[in-house]
Amino acid sequence: MSIAKVEPLLTTRNVSGPFDYRLPDAMREVEVGSVLVVPFGRRRVVGVVVGLADRSDLPADRLAEPLEALEAGVPPELVALGRWVGEEYCSTPARGLGLVLPPGVGTGAEARRVRPLVELEVEATDRGLDAIAGGERLGLRQRAVLRALAGGPRLARALANSAGSDRSTLRRLEARGLVRTREVERRRRHHAPGVGAVREGIEPTGDQRSALETVVAALPAPGATDSTSSFLLHGVTGSGKTEVYLEAAREALARGRGAIVLVPEIALTPQTMDRFRRRFGDSVALLHSRMPAGARYDEWRRLRSGEARICVGPRSAVFAPVSEPGLIVVDEEHDSSYKQESDPRYDAREVATRRAAESGAVLLCGTATPRPESWEELERLELPSRVDGRALPPVEVVDMRGGVPGPLHPATREAFNEVAGQGGKAILLINRRGWSTHLTCRSCGHAWQCPNCDVSLVLHRDGGLRCHHCGHAETRPQACPECSSVTIARVGSGTQRVESELTELLAPLEIFRLDSDSAATRGHAEVLSRFEAAESGVLVGTQMVAKGHDFPDVTLSVILDADGALRLPDFRSEERTFSLITQLAGRSGRGAAGGRVLVQALATGAPSIRYAARHDSAGFLAEELERRRALRYPPFSHLIEIGLAGADESRVETSAETVRALVEDRISADDELLGPAPLFRLRGKYRRRLLIKSERRHETVAAIREAVATAVRDRALRELAISVDVDPQ
Ligand code: ADP
Ligand code: ZN
Ligand code: ZN
Repeated sequence: MSIAKVEPLLTTRNVSGPFDYRLPDAMREVEVGSVLVVPFGRRRVVGVVVGLADRSDLPADRLAEPLEALEAGVPPELVALGRWVGEEYCSTPARGLGLVLPPGVGTGAEARRVRPLVELEVEATDRGLDAIAGGERLGLRQRAVLRALAGGPRLARALANSAGSDRSTLRRLEARGLVRTREVERRRRHHAPGVGAVREGIEPTGDQRSALETVVAALPAPGATDSTSSFLLHGVTGSGKTEVYLEAAREALARGRGAIVLVPEIALTPQTMDRFRRRFGDSVALLHSRMPAGARYDEWRRLRSGEARICVGPRSAVFAPVSEPGLIVVDEEHDSSYKQESDPRYDAREVATRRAAESGAVLLCGTATPRPESWEELERLELPSRVDGRALPPVEVVDMRGGVPGPLHPATREAFNEVAGQGGKAILLINRRGWSTHLTCRSCGHAWQCPNCDVSLVLHRDGGLRCHHCGHAETRPQACPECSSVTIARVGSGTQRVESELTELLAPLEIFRLDSDSAATRGHAEVLSRFEAAESGVLVGTQMVAKGHDFPDVTLSVILDADGALRLPDFRSEERTFSLITQLAGRSGRGAAGGRVLVQALATGAPSIRYAARHDSAGFLAEELERRRALRYPPFSHLIEIGLAGADESRVETSAETVRALVEDRISADDELLGPAPLFRLRGKYRRRLLIKSERRHETVAAIREAVATAVRDRALRELAISVDVDPQ
């Protein structure tokens, strides 16, 4: 008897698989990684085969058979990786496996499933070709079809267009032995096929060459899984990092290995994608969530079958079915989009490290602003200068202390006026934190807060008040509900107000808005390409204006409230601030006209701002690492956060103590347990947080997993929602 051990893809934490199913003869080909539809209780659910056995501990009459085996299965090494993620991020095996499934499976068995697109292809037989020359009697349509086929096989659909044939014409021709038909799978393409030269004729610089030599020397031979190397490619913006990825990928392919290239959000980095497609053509598969399901499925299968050997995509591409990867690239490794913010809260950089180690691949992380973790842990390869030899633009810190009227310092205004005068281009980054506008009563100090979340409501341009956490909206008040005073003050300048002030100030320069609101209506890519095509203008937006775009004619970059993040209680604030300023500076002065960078801040002496102004990553990281070591923060420990939420505050409070005790009993004495600390109320839920600092992540996560499992079974904690975040960002 063949038994499949199946992990059903249910979202609940209460079910712990795998479960045994008997495989009928018709399912002989089922293997580890096969995706099955199985009966589960009274439901049909999708499950993944995680093991096979000859016998089961269950009596034969209790064993059910799977209902269906899906055509596409997951490679066994990805089954292992998915289960590892489920464990290591304190999620469930099912949720971990959900990450490695072929696209379009859907976890509900009822979900509409994506299938290969199959079409009919028609080919003339030798007799058919002879028939055109004479010999056989042919109808007008039949002759037209055979003529069209003289050059080779065609799709039935194409023949219908060109030769006016329908199915019955083809059937009659086939019956007479003049044509053959067969079903072929057609690839749904989302992107136009890559165009342009296969090689761009770029001669690597000396720095690029030596980085590449080190990476190539570490690439594994076909089949080898015994060693792995990890590198940090630290290169200033414009230093040609992508060129190193491209050549390293080519070398991996030459050794019979595949490659995975992770990039931050696709919409903001279409150029990297493009360059891979131009260099490698159909050997590259792209996987991202904006693609239609059919195209994504086809790309996944091209990788699975080995037809495509390189996968480029965002964090989820770390689970791409590339067989025998020899190289895993993480481009812009500092980018926060590598962390998934919903369960399983995995970090694609960690998963990439794991996958590289398991497959013997080289891990290559590139950035201009490395994370302290990577700086400390990876072997460094340096690209210290821009390929065009241009200097990085000078960064000027503009001190906003001492009552500057309005959001712009006179010096900043002056700089914008200059760009406007030249009809040039500028980028303005508004650090959103700290810029929203709130209302407060001048008489009694009443602040308008969200009824569901303990945060202030934000005043919008349309006059309404909104909660940025739960979406609660109300109209702007006429009077204070506490004291009836009508003197209501606005606090903070607000992104939109800054924008309207700028629009006036910079006229006639056009403003191009890039933020999450503009994304909903027009899409980032469109705003970016309009800005690129324009003669002049200012690209205005939040953090996303600092990401990888390359506009050579931008001569001024400005960041407002650069130290906004430093006022938040987050140990990564300095790192984020340094990265934001440096990345923004990288957007300026990429062309012959040079450029300058203005950084408006209050805390002008903060290390992140001082070092960023000197383009000194090494200096910043050395100081930051010392601070982290002293405070026992990553990379000198791992943080694990346990979030607890419930509708009844006093119950959440006592439950939090219970969970704390469960955790404390299980973790090691060397681990540090902090909390429960209150978090602001969110969407009507009271929240508490426990924080664990540990030097042994694996063991501590295991202990916490057990504590959570115990808590989930405890009826007294039934109403408590528990979430775990390993290495929170
Ligand atoms: P980074 O990713 O480090 O910011 P890119 O790889 O995007 O830099 O390179 C910036 C630009 O320089 C690109 O247009 C790229 O084609 C070009 N480039 C890269 N390497 C070279 C080289 N060796 N010679 C000439 N141009 C190069
Ligand atoms: Zn009042
Ligand atoms: Zn709210």
